[in-house]
Amino acid sequence: MVSSDPMKIKIDRFGIPPSRCPTIEAVTSLYNLPIKDFILIFDKFDDGQLMDTSKWKLHGNFLNSKTSDIPNDTPDHIMDLIITNRSARIVWLSESTCASKDEHFIWVFSHELRHVEQDMNLVDLKETSKYLDARLKNQMEATKRFRWTQPEEFDADLSAFHTLKKLSASNADRHILELENAAPSEGKYLYTLLKEFSNG
Ligand SMILES: [Zn+2]
Repeated sequence: MVSSDPMKIKIDRFGIPPSRCPTIEAVTSLYNLPIKDFILIFDKFDDGQLMDTSKWKLHGNFLNSKTSDIPNDTPDHIMDLIITNRSARIVWLSESTCASKDEHFIWVFSHELRHVEQDMNLVDLKETSKYLDARLKNQMEATKRFRWTQPEEFDADLSAFHTLKKLSASNADRHILELENAAPSEGKYLYTLLKEFSNG
């Protein structure tokens, strides 16, 4: 289903149930999103064939089709959208995210919408990442470096936490605990920092 709103396109390949629409409205209302060239994809996509490192195997993804490198393994149905909407900002949510419980759905959706805001208004964050990555190259291996040298990811997680808190405070506290427990050892501290900063 494609929405009739000419400024924003929602492509619902998943078949979002009507019961989730108020949540989607509530989350989107908290973000300053582009008024045109913005596409939201709720996907029904089996990512089993992709490498674990693929951007399309994650819970969600954001890309600016004008300025981002388009990953080589981008599925055809997303590539078609990129080609026909050359300068669009695209937020993609995976099938597993669309099918997940509210807390996870809200977290991932908010995280990706925050990347849209960053792309529009906070371009310096990318430069900061480049600096931190270069600075820490010799002190940390790449897999660990990733989480600690990308302030835009910390900022997006923080935004997701705040949005979830606004919509359901008790769910937010429980969900961040679940994320913390599921994270690899080097990632656990990130959630401690998120909580600390957020309660600051
Ligand atoms: Zn992210």
